Amino acid sequence: MTEFAPPARVLILGGTTEASSLAARLANDARFTPLLSFAGATKSPRPPPIPHRIGGFGGSEGLAAFLRTGGTTLLVDATHPFAARMKRNAAEAAQLAPVKLLAIHRPEWQPVPGDRWTIVPHMAAAAAALGEAPRRVLLTIGQKDLAEFRAAPHHHYVVRSVDPPTPDALPPKAEIISARGPFDEAAETHLLQSRGIEILVTKNAGGTATVAKLAATRALGLPVVMVARPQIPEGVARVPDSESAWRWLEAHAGTARGV
Ligand code: NAP
Repeated sequence: MTEFAPPARVLILGGTTEASSLAARLANDARFTPLLSFAGATKSPRPPPIPHRIGGFGGSEGLAAFLRTGGTTLLVDATHPFAARMKRNAAEAAQLAPVKLLAIHRPEWQPVPGDRWTIVPHMAAAAAALGEAPRRVLLTIGQKDLAEFRAAPHHHYVVRSVDPPTPDALPPKAEIISARGPFDEAAETHLLQSRGIEILVTKNAGGTATVAKLAATRALGLPVVMVARPQIPEGVARVPDSESAWRWLEAHAGTARGV
């Protein structure tokens, strides 16, 4: 019986390095039929080694319908720590459809001696935390929340993001750097010094791909406005990385295939 069991259908909610690593582990594994889902936020995502789809599902009910229709039994929420809506949708969809849900919860960055962090609860507070005196600010916050800095137009902003933001999303004095991580400390130090940056604003994304900027600000004695993570849904099984998610999938492969 075992060798005739159909592969378990797995949906990975992606947009992160963890999702890409997990996709690489699942490629060519006959126990799984994986599908990687992107929101469509990045114009040219790196092509994954497994089938993928792009675009929203239409909320938690849309996702539940997608899971049911496709016969998906294992759902891995590998979205970014700041993708709060998608995480909530995944948790709700898992109540509506017959799937097992796992979330990859990347550990947060923690301040170490020498760091000069101001931790704020959201992006509007980050803009306010820059203060009254004009400063040269590096924003590494993605594209979604840039407009919050229109409330602090007296600063000069250097905006780094994967795709160039649309002009209407930007504060008035902004220059753009389009770049995709990972970044190393020497390059981050050069960026901070060559642009005369006085303060960094970033989200507490965690992980290694973009952590070098924190080492660079520490070494240069620069302050950081650190935006704390949004709340995540309770009651969802969690692991810290793609390797643990892989083990979870292996453990559930048999049951999900009805072996
Ligand atoms: P979000 O606010 O939580 O989600 C907004 C909507 O986008 C969701 O309601 C959903 O639409 C759709 N969506 C999000 N992730 C999706 C996915 N993997 N597949 C299909 N649809 C998805 O998310 P966000 O903060 O805009 O992030 C969008 C994507 O970029 C996520 O995949 C995330 O992992 C990645 N990302 C985000 C950040 C960040 O800082 N937020 C950083 C790096 C990468 P429906 O409700 O219509 O299903």
